[in-house]
Amino acid sequence: MPRAERPAPRRRFAGWLGAAAMLAGLVVLFAALPTPPATSAAAASAGALDAPPSGRFAVTGVRLFDGERVHEGVDVVVADGEIAAVGAGAAAELPADVPRVDGSGRTLLPGLIDAHTHSWGDALADALRFGVTTVLDQFTDPTFLADKKQRQAADGNPGEADLFSAGILATVPGGHGTQFPIQVPAIDADTDVDAWVADRVAEGSDWIKIVVEDGASIGRPLATLGGERIAALVAAAHRHDRIAIAHVGSATEAHLALDGGADGLVHVFLDEDAAAGEESFVARAAAAGVFVVPTLSVLEGFDGTAGRDSGLADDPHLAPLLDGEQKAGLARRFGIPTPDGYRFAHALATTGRLAAAGVPVLAGTDAPNPGTTFGASQHRELELLVEAGLTPTAALTAATAAPADAFGLADRGRVAPGLRADLLLVDGDPTTDVTATRRLAAVWKAGTAVALAAPAAPEATVVQPGPVADFSAPLGGDWAPSTDSRMGGESTVELAVEEGVLQVSGEVRAGFPFPWAGAIWFPGPTPMAPADLSAVDAVAFRARSGGGGPFRLMVLTATGGGVPAALPFTPASDWQHFEISFADLADQGLDAGQVTAILWTGGPQLGAFDLSVDDVELTASGR
Ligand SMILES: [Zn+2]
Repeated sequence: MPRAERPAPRRRFAGWLGAAAMLAGLVVLFAALPTPPATSAAAASAGALDAPPSGRFAVTGVRLFDGERVHEGVDVVVADGEIAAVGAGAAAELPADVPRVDGSGRTLLPGLIDAHTHSWGDALADALRFGVTTVLDQFTDPTFLADKKQRQAADGNPGEADLFSAGILATVPGGHGTQFPIQVPAIDADTDVDAWVADRVAEGSDWIKIVVEDGASIGRPLATLGGERIAALVAAAHRHDRIAIAHVGSATEAHLALDGGADGLVHVFLDEDAAAGEESFVARAAAAGVFVVPTLSVLEGFDGTAGRDSGLADDPHLAPLLDGEQKAGLARRFGIPTPDGYRFAHALATTGRLAAAGVPVLAGTDAPNPGTTFGASQHRELELLVEAGLTPTAALTAATAAPADAFGLADRGRVAPGLRADLLLVDGDPTTDVTATRRLAAVWKAGTAVALAAPAAPEATVVQPGPVADFSAPLGGDWAPSTDSRMGGESTVELAVEEGVLQVSGEVRAGFPFPWAGAIWFPGPTPMAPADLSAVDAVAFRARSGGGGPFRLMVLTATGGGVPAALPFTPASDWQHFEISFADLADQGLDAGQVTAILWTGGPQLGAFDLSVDDVELTASGR
């Protein structure tokens, strides 16, 4: 077994489920190999309290947003993980040794609830560091969910946000949601939907998510669940005491979800602005009593092919808390050409109309889709909800009391005696300027203070530009075959050095949604150890092909969440020179300071291939 194929201690997958990221073509999912442990905590957020108390304490003289309303100059007393008392002077009678946090000039809020994520890896720790104490996930691996639930039950899992999730989603064979390395029991004509829902409930699904997505938003038709099946799934969910929510990608699909009786929708749409009228989506949603999670954070990535930039990576209050993987996620772009008539402005307008019509609007990000990340993006979602026309307090309700109500979480989402002490203390007044939520002074989960510091990046070995291999000698341990077999795929590859040339031959086979097979090179001192290639501008090499292709150069990083940056190259039967620039990979979130591997691969096109590679070099401009 080549070294690159060692079993991973922690299986990762990328949960792209936004309108369509997974169909962008370059999204390939890898299980992550071990990364060196972080060495030290990075700098804390600028305004963070030095040592916020845990356990029994009080925040005094603070502006309180209780989930719906604002109260000035109150005390909030915390004990045993819960809110013990709220009110002016509530802390006055406490013993002198109970720690007090001065709330003057600050605002205390319920811990934030992100109502749309896809959780994996470090998602829940990342969320908590930004004040998101509860995550409502809309499709994840049931084993991940079960593990987190077990920790929540055991000790409250103080280092991570609480997780609730739909678990596996409802979709048809080949439909949206089947393209990930999670086994999805798809729903076909023969499926007993009641039994299907019962299986989800047994797996731990807290609600049922139904995919209504025909692919129109990305110009690539997809099979999808239709009217009768949607209604049958909603009814089955209700029989099993679960709500049923729907993913939609267009106005037509939003109407279909309402026709089917869904309890909530987890996106708005870009193809129309749901203008006024009795039969409009807004009027129907209000009449049906559904809630809507607009996910403006992910949808702004579809504002033109380049998308809007969230600005989060440059935010002076949030940037110190971002780890490298989060920065890479924020830099990533969908890069999908916007279909005619699709506009982010439509999503903003519809969201404003929904709120004005009294439809509960819930803040959710759809992290970690391109342009978003766990935790930080919830602060952007608040800003976008205000841009859509919500007042700052309505936006804050959308991230606290409203999702708690919609998902039946009676113990959180508000600050009131007896509720969980999930709290956010910020400098300034987010009830007038919602961006003040970014000025984190302290975050508590069930009364336990959270460290407001980013985990340190793994230390990377600096690698200078220069020749990598001319294949005049046998392959060293820094080269290995690599295929999708690690992810359960069926592709095969063989490497050989013949006459001073690397021969890569194999077959890309169906089995994994993003199949690949090829040669992998590790720039670091050991396989998958991060290398700092900041001084390198491009990977240059010669290549020729005896069949198959196009091929791809893929660059994996310690901060890329297991998703490589990749660009195609198409060699002919004669030798050609290629130079693939890191700058051209930047919009895929490439972090050149944390490169773990570079691959020359066939796929995702299926079939046999034959590739020769020679004279691999890391180049820098001016050389
Ligand atoms: Zn999603």
